[in-house]
Amino acid sequence: MVIYLRNIKRVITMNSRRDILKDATIVIDGENIVDLGEYKTVRRKWGRGLIVDCSGKVALPGLIDLHGHSTQAFLRGLFEDKPLPSWLAYMHRARELMDDDMRRLGVELTFLEKLLSGTTTTVDMERCADIVFEVAEKYGIRLIEAVVLVDSQELPYSGLERISGVESEVNFAKKFIKKYNSDMHRAIFGPLGFPASSFDLLKRVSEEARELKTLVQTHCAEWMVNPSLSAKIYGLRELEKLEEIGFLGPNVMLVHSVYLTDYEIMALAKYQSSVVYCPSSNAKLGNGIARIPEMLARGVPVGIGTDGAASNNSQDMFTEMKIASLIQKARLKDSTVMPAERVLEMATIKAAEIIKMRDKIGSIEVGKKADIVLLDWRNPSKVPLENIVSHIVYNTSGAEVDTVIVNGKILLENRRLRIPVDIDELCRRVEEKYHILVEKLNQ
Ligand SMILES: [Zn+2]
Repeated sequence: MVIYLRNIKRVITMNSRRDILKDATIVIDGENIVDLGEYKTVRRKWGRGLIVDCSGKVALPGLIDLHGHSTQAFLRGLFEDKPLPSWLAYMHRARELMDDDMRRLGVELTFLEKLLSGTTTTVDMERCADIVFEVAEKYGIRLIEAVVLVDSQELPYSGLERISGVESEVNFAKKFIKKYNSDMHRAIFGPLGFPASSFDLLKRVSEEARELKTLVQTHCAEWMVNPSLSAKIYGLRELEKLEEIGFLGPNVMLVHSVYLTDYEIMALAKYQSSVVYCPSSNAKLGNGIARIPEMLARGVPVGIGTDGAASNNSQDMFTEMKIASLIQKARLKDSTVMPAERVLEMATIKAAEIIKMRDKIGSIEVGKKADIVLLDWRNPSKVPLENIVSHIVYNTSGAEVDTVIVNGKILLENRRLRIPVDIDELCRRVEEKYHILVEKLNQ
């Protein structure tokens, strides 16, 4: 039986013409959008079905969050307003003390928060991939998991120590890449990035990724120390070294990329490697502001990520879109950079391109998977209606999300969850386990 999302006030399609449809009905059959148009016309064609009244609502493609660490929701608010080196050391210690129950609770919080705020596809970076996929299945979110690979650690005085074998790390990820390879659940390579991943490991990962035709996501140039450490040891900055070892290519996503030179930005454009822009995390950890307008001007593909709940602390892509734009306007003292439509593209159709799913998600079009978010537009802050995309980017929060559909399944309707999750019980279990972790940290 088909589903009719009937009489939607506006449908922001994000198709190639960027059409915005008025009083339209979306028809969903199984996983896919099969029709789009006036209710009377589509009803004649598709017959009886489940009717969801969407008058007063605005539809847009489900948002795509290109980078996060799902277990970190368990650590939210634990270690605040500290410089990056001590934050990293503390996070490392906390993560070592977490058990599988705590990790699972963190992932549950993350996926629940993401769905409730309109994210329908998320690229996550964790090592406990089986747990994350299990939770993704339960919640119904579309997941790409970048399996974390780590083989080295930094020693005092700028040395590196190998802590794991390159081949064993590559094989660890390959096991998941073979196991999870569907449009809903896909594993990819997730080397954590230099110096936690050696350039030997990064080189092997890029060779294997080409062989398996899969994606790679890694952190790059998050703070000023990484490029200069690489330059000190190898005579080449981090990104120059990645180019030298043949790592760059269109299957590579570089998260952060805050400290890049003009040459390095041109290299990303040349190889069509993409950048995942995490403005809140970069700002909160005091790392700076990535040169996104400069990258876009050179033709570098750019998407947006919320990063982990321990460094953001929100996982709301609406908030992230607003910050993504405003922080660049402020940095460059130029209100014309990062206009609203460009930012919404980065969270929908451009993000779908980056994860090689443009033919399946990222826009509301016939033939695509039904990943749709509806916002309640009966709100004085949303009028006049004229420039609706700017309202979405500059004046919407995830709390306004009313209905969420992923792969044709209604997961949230009129703000009520349609999946079997007891939110109160989840929060109670998080509080209980959180205090156990804090006690261990204080010992
Ligand atoms: Zn990250």
